[in-house]
Amino acid sequence: MDFRLTEAQQEMQSAARAYAQDKLPELADHIERTAEPPTHELIKEYAEMGFLGINIPEALGGLGQTSLDALIVLEEFGKISSAIAFPVFESCTGPVKAIEHFGTEARKQRVVPAVCAGEMVVAIAMSEPNAGSALTDLTTRAEVGRDSVRINGMQRWCSGGGHADGYLVYCRMSDDPGAKGIGAVFIEKDTKGVSFGEQEHLMGFRGVPSSDIFLDDVEIPIDNVVVGAGGFKKLMQAFDLERCGNATMSMAQAAGALDEVIERLRAGAQTVRQTHHRLPGCAAAARRDADAGRRRAPAHPPCDLQCRGGHAQHPGKLDRQVLRQRDFTHSHRQRRPAHGRLWLLQGVPHRTPHARRLGLGHRRRCHRYPEDQHRERDGGEAV
Ligand SMILES: Cc1cc2nc3c(=O)[nH]c(=O)nc-3n(C[C@H](O)[C@H](O)[C@H](O)COP(=O)(O)OP(=O)(O)OC[C@H]3O[C@@H](n4cnc5c(N)ncnc54)[C@H](O)[C@@H]3O)c2cc1C
Repeated sequence: MDFRLTEAQQEMQSAARAYAQDKLPELADHIERTAEPPTHELIKEYAEMGFLGINIPEALGGLGQTSLDALIVLEEFGKISSAIAFPVFESCTGPVKAIEHFGTEARKQRVVPAVCAGEMVVAIAMSEPNAGSALTDLTTRAEVGRDSVRINGMQRWCSGGGHADGYLVYCRMSDDPGAKGIGAVFIEKDTKGVSFGEQEHLMGFRGVPSSDIFLDDVEIPIDNVVVGAGGFKKLMQAFDLERCGNATMSMAQAAGALDEVIERLRAGAQTVRQTHHRLPGCAAAARRDADAGRRRAPAHPPCDLQCRGGHAQHPGKLDRQVLRQRDFTHSHRQRRPAHGRLWLLQGVPHRTPHARRLGLGHRRRCHRYPEDQHRERDGGEAV
């Protein structure tokens, strides 16, 4: 199998990367501070640039490309932040795909082109307080009549809750047990009987609104049924692409954070403070290390990088002149099996026997522990 991207895909990737890296980092920082989602103006700009509905047929306002194309673009936006990437995610891998595949013609025409044009955001509501992984335990109930459907229940953790214009709501549409009774309907935000809980405060994922949804005698036209009872398999098929979108966004954030840290260390930056939000799990550590770095002047100009801890690269393998000038930047990263943490340390070359022959530097023994001791001494940063 050939995993290389085609020329067209590479061009698309470059265009997405250039736009995302040039225009969006500052906005991502603002979103991170305020937790405000991207504005409608920005989403419209994404649409004009061709970053929404990439894998939706042209007849429905999309670009008619493949889902891989969409994920390539999503990855570039995800490297900036999840909130920044979310409109791309929703328009290419979100519940709009279920509407595109299974909705009535009238419903498709009303929703899908609007999403591709950045005029409508559609979210998915399937989880309930007692139905997460075990989705088939959901209890939100839809009574299907001749011309309309009446819905009662509540949904939890809806990304886009209270912010999105429309919701694909999974509900129990017949008395059949388990998956057999489940289908999905489309509910617009301002429909009578729809209300939202308080916005969740999530760790990471800031700028992606999230809330409970309450459905009290919500009445919608029969045309809003996207998948009837018994169509759970179809819904899961459409949801598989959403899983790919989630994985892409998550991996992209990790890649973006790593890129930024390496870039900063290369440039001699002594802190990683603006990166901590990309690594939610490491946020506290990154912030702490950044603060420590600010308080301490490095023992040497931040000229080179070495991986410490018993596996330091052998300077003999380094270019002699580069070592002499001591103004090179080299990153070397290694996983420490004992801890599974990635270490990037800033320091000076070791004076190994080879370095001694070259008359370079002074040997600075690199103790693994205590971490603070050698960070302080070398002005290094742990990430
Ligand atoms: C960032 C984020 C965004 C989300 N966005 C949405 C959204 O837009 N719309 C929406 O509807 N929901 C959303 N969710 C909710 C999400 O779908 C649920 O969190 C998910 O389904 C897991 O459900 P739960 O949290 O109740 O965990 P549980 O189902 O209680 O699972 C807890 C743990 O038990 C394990 N487990 C569960 N069942 C079994 C089993 N049978 N055997 C073995 N292990 C099991 C799970 O793997 C997990 O480790 C979101 C969640 C997050 C974190």
